[in-house]
Amino acid sequence: MSVNGNWFMAQEFDKFEDIRLSIRSLCGNFPGEYWRDLDRKKSYPTQFVKAMTESGFLGVLIPEKYGGSGMGISAAAAILEEIHKCGCNAAACHAQMYIMGTILRHGSNSQKSEYLPKIASGELRLQAFGVTEPSSGTDTTRIKTTAVRDGAGYIVNGQKVWTSRVEHSDLMLLLARTSPRGEKEKRHEGMSVFLIDIRESVGNGLTIHPISTMINHATTEVFFDDLCVPPDGLVGNEGEGFKYILDGMNAERILIGSECIGDAYWFIEKATNYAKERKVFGRAIGQNQGVQFPIAKAYAATEAAKLMVEKASALFDTGKDCGAEANMAKMLAADSSWEAADMCLQTHGGYGFAEEYDVERKFRETRLYQIAPISTNLILSYIAEHVLGLPRSY
Ligand SMILES: Cc1cc2nc3c(=O)[nH]c(=O)nc-3n(C[C@H](O)[C@H](O)[C@H](O)COP(=O)(O)OP(=O)(O)OC[C@H]3O[C@@H](n4cnc5c(N)ncnc54)[C@H](O)[C@@H]3O)c2cc1C
Repeated sequence: MSVNGNWFMAQEFDKFEDIRLSIRSLCGNFPGEYWRDLDRKKSYPTQFVKAMTESGFLGVLIPEKYGGSGMGISAAAAILEEIHKCGCNAAACHAQMYIMGTILRHGSNSQKSEYLPKIASGELRLQAFGVTEPSSGTDTTRIKTTAVRDGAGYIVNGQKVWTSRVEHSDLMLLLARTSPRGEKEKRHEGMSVFLIDIRESVGNGLTIHPISTMINHATTEVFFDDLCVPPDGLVGNEGEGFKYILDGMNAERILIGSECIGDAYWFIEKATNYAKERKVFGRAIGQNQGVQFPIAKAYAATEAAKLMVEKASALFDTGKDCGAEANMAKMLAADSSWEAADMCLQTHGGYGFAEEYDVERKFRETRLYQIAPISTNLILSYIAEHVLGLPRSY
């Protein structure tokens, strides 16, 4: 694959150069001061999200017949990478791109025609995804939120944590147990996915509590107390929800990986420029190998991780199995952005801690990807077990 693969990737890169140019132009309106100010106030980047929505980039994965651009994950990855490379942060709206994939792949025809055109236009925001719970953590099959049949519909009870952007969404996707763990043959069976209308549910069984975090991320705890979900809220077949969210997780891992690559490039450029300009002991600090080698190393690691993001994207776009590649892409990209962040802060010396350089903020922001949406350890366990055939460790 090497020669042809590289050629293919170079074509892909060229193919998205127009998109990258548009993103750079859009992001030019949202400089560091914009993000710094929001970070201090812990406010949602409404203007940025509005600009992204109006640009149509958030509908890139929605087929043309539903009003989107009908492009693949490679295009979405280029968009998100470029946003982060410009110093912006797509986390406030990236999920509008990919959560709808569950409806697209597993929803009924009426769900698709009702929701996808409105998601593509931005009239409806579906950018909240409730999976993680306080007591189950990464062990998703132990979730306790239940959806119990009530006539044709369901009654939902339970709690989610770290449900991001739910205050800025009209709809959320929810994973709940429709059969107790242990009742079905396999532990991942018996979970179902629901599309919840947040607008109708808040105050009627749905309560949202914001969580204050080290980054400006609009994340929350969500409580369900006898929330009624109508029959058309079920997505796909009852009991098969875990399978559906796994499909979506590959897309999420690839796209978060692309954001990490963008962050890494931002840190590398920032550090390189500073290392050229900052003079200590009568010469640019970047003349010292102790300063330039970590920058060069971060660059090499980022370039390598980007290849894995591109490989996973290419497999995803051709409908091939990409579980291992999506996981490796996310891990390698998150590692490269974290390495670059640490290097960039070190290169800036004390000034790395000053808000006005944006390095400390981006440093905090990119640290998230060692934990979410899946922690590094769990990716390593996946590779050990599913790729290398080692015994399951947990
Ligand atoms: C800002 C933010 C936004 C988020 N947004 C969302 C969202 O929108 N929707 C959503 O559903 N979730 C969201 N999450 C949750 C996120 O996906 C989880 O935090 C993540 O999957 C880890 O789960 P946990 O926090 O419960 O950690 P735990 O599962 O409690 O794990 C804690 C630590 O132990 C390690 N560990 C656990 N088990 C093992 C094992 N068997 N082997 C080795 N190491 C192990 C983990 O790697 C981790 O480092 C968000 C989290 C954050 C912080």
